[in-house]
Amino acid sequence: MTMASPERQYASFAAQRQPGCRAGRLVALAALLGLAPFADLCAQPAPPLAIAAHSEVQGHESRLTFTLQSCVQAESYLLDSPNRAILDLPEVNFQIDPHEGQPEPAPEPRKHRHRASTKDRDAAKDNSKATAAHGSGLVASYRFGRLAPGKSRVVVDLTGPASIVSTGCAPSPGAFELTLVLAPASEAAFKAAARAGAEKQARATAQNAPPAPPLPSVGAQKPIIVLDPGHGGVDTGALGREHAIEKYVVLDFAKALGAKLRASGNYRVVFTREDDTFVSLGQRVRIARSLNAALFVSVHADALARDGDEVQGATVYTVSDRASDAEAARVAEHENKADSAAGEDATEGASDVNDILFELTRRETRAYSHVVARSLAEYWKVAARLNKNPRRSAGFVVLKAPDVPSILLELGYLSNEEDVADLTSAAWREKAAAQAAKAIDAFFAQRQPENQPENLAAPPADAALKATQSTGN
Ligand SMILES: [Zn+2]
Repeated sequence: MTMASPERQYASFAAQRQPGCRAGRLVALAALLGLAPFADLCAQPAPPLAIAAHSEVQGHESRLTFTLQSCVQAESYLLDSPNRAILDLPEVNFQIDPHEGQPEPAPEPRKHRHRASTKDRDAAKDNSKATAAHGSGLVASYRFGRLAPGKSRVVVDLTGPASIVSTGCAPSPGAFELTLVLAPASEAAFKAAARAGAEKQARATAQNAPPAPPLPSVGAQKPIIVLDPGHGGVDTGALGREHAIEKYVVLDFAKALGAKLRASGNYRVVFTREDDTFVSLGQRVRIARSLNAALFVSVHADALARDGDEVQGATVYTVSDRASDAEAARVAEHENKADSAAGEDATEGASDVNDILFELTRRETRAYSHVVARSLAEYWKVAARLNKNPRRSAGFVVLKAPDVPSILLELGYLSNEEDVADLTSAAWREKAAAQAAKAIDAFFAQRQPENQPENLAAPPADAALKATQSTGN
């Protein structure tokens, strides 16, 4: 019998997180220790399980079906830019691999013993188009997950303009099936339906404004650091090797970093999310600004489709109007799609304030962001791998607070074998988070006295830092 690799164990742990019962792990522990009364902690009804999903084409209709433990009421609507169908649900516990909804990889080119005829080539072209889409038809790909406490969502990327024929839930042998039926529609009809969809979503969003995360009550004078684990819930982020999923990897790292920062006693630490919930890019920036945060650190992990195994290491990003290079532009474009991936109508653009004071503040903030980015890259390489070009900049929406120094740390590449092994290892996380916390200490020690925590040591001199690096790996 072979032992499961640590990465595998991590993946299965991540897949089994129970969003519905926050006390779930405590209850499991209590049961293990024979403390039965603690089982009451999870007395509220658990959200129904979803255990399978599949899409199929029947005539001109495309059907997407989820197999559930019990029926749920679904609200369906369409959105454009890009074209999507949305299913808003009460909270559902999706026990389905997120890879299920992704397009299948392009098929290996078939070896022909004879030269392909024009007809063969056309058929091959049609074939690859059908495979790139999810089993062909109107469903290109789909995502599912938690949106907010008590709410879940399914986002369907469409191959073309569609109409919703029906949405319904019915018993099937041994389970229940929630089915969305789509049919092709004219561009004009789709646009009109998408406008109505956007209005419907805007009304629902206005009624359910997300609550601000609680601010620690102790240490009112201490600077606030906002830690921002990317993605969450229905937005999984990058899907990597060994079933690594960005939203879990970055949450675990942010928690490890938060624990180090809190343990120092120098800061108040606030998270934009502490569980598997979607938070919009605008809301992440609003949290940092409303708390007058002294630092905002967004945590992500990348994955490359092509040459995925060649590229590795962490990269620290700052915001800039022009991307530092093509790779930075690609990463920013990808990360800026988080709201659309979660089925939100549109990202709120940063307001263009043409004010000299605003401009001065923004310039000063960006200078501080560069200082902390430099510090992080320096300290990081003592304990972990850096990308060969570790400091880059681009137009990340989440880094656009004009008055909060903000950086975005891409921990590494989930498409790279060594990076995946590191990013899913608790030992690596501890080591890397400790270095990131030191880098943040060094940044605050360099700032003006009024922003300095009292009991911080002076930042290490460059020579001392270099000496530490030479003993590192
Ligand atoms: Zn990301």
